[in-house]
Amino acid sequence: MKISTVAYNHLNSLIRASPPETGGILGSNDGDVITDIVLDIPSETTYTCAYSPNVTFLNTCISNWQSNGKHFKGVFHSHFFGIKTPSAADKEYIINIMHAMPDSITELYFPIFVLPNRELICYKAIRADLDIQLTQDALEII
Ligand SMILES: [Zn+2]
Repeated sequence: MKISTVAYNHLNSLIRASPPETGGILGSNDGDVITDIVLDIPSETTYTCAYSPNVTFLNTCISNWQSNGKHFKGVFHSHFFGIKTPSAADKEYIINIMHAMPDSITELYFPIFVLPNRELICYKAIRADLDIQLTQDALEII
């Protein structure tokens, strides 16, 4: 996963100021490099101890991006201490998002910020036919 230094610093400051299981979306105006970050607004109707994307809010951001020539690149969230792998609920929303994407989008990133050190563990979801593969990916800050 490639991310610009500016976007990485922005992401870091948002996560630092938020409780665990905070999330948001990643966007780009520069091909493969993530350049834009938007923090999710938790939906007030549900309370869970796991991050659950606010689909209405995020879809609005994604369509605003599209009007400005930016592309949706994935979804990030933070985890409680030391938990570096996606939970069952995480995998469920990752699969749902991948299936909801147009055919032109075959891969997206789902990084996890692991607290308290804000270690960023990157996962990449790839759609191959009807199958979704989730693999760990190297972080490249450029
Ligand atoms: Zn999670």
